[in-house]
Amino acid sequence: MSYDPNNIFAKILRGEIPCDRVHENDHALAFRDINPQTPVHVLVIPKGAYADLTDFAANAPADEIEGFVRALGETAQMLGITDGGYRALTNIGEHGLQEVPHFHVHLFGGQPLGRMIKPPGK
Ligand code: AMP
Repeated sequence: MSYDPNNIFAKILRGEIPCDRVHENDHALAFRDINPQTPVHVLVIPKGAYADLTDFAANAPADEIEGFVRALGETAQMLGITDGGYRALTNIGEHGLQEVPHFHVHLFGGQPLGRMIKPPGK
């Protein structure tokens, strides 16, 4: 997927629209999802322009990958969800139902989360 610089998370990174920020480092920003699915629902995004995990894994330099992964763990710690447990999830492309074409990882927590996937037709 090619990167669309007009996607909503790019606008958040440029400060063109606000976000409810919970954490930030040199390479990543974490903010609350505008439509939370669980009591804690935060998105962690790299500051670089990557469309999805495949793009990020192939093209991000090592310092950006490290900064992003550290931000994931730090954000979970800051949110207080590590003891109870949580889920980190990224949607990719059409089958993954990715809506925003800037790589992001959802952090879900604050309650038992149920099964990870509901099999089709069940
Ligand atoms: P995905 O389907 O993985 O691309 O998820 C995109 C997520 O972005 C959804 O959970 C939306 O609720 C969330 N979202 C969309 N716009 C905003 C926004 N302006 N601020 C925070 N979260 C947003």
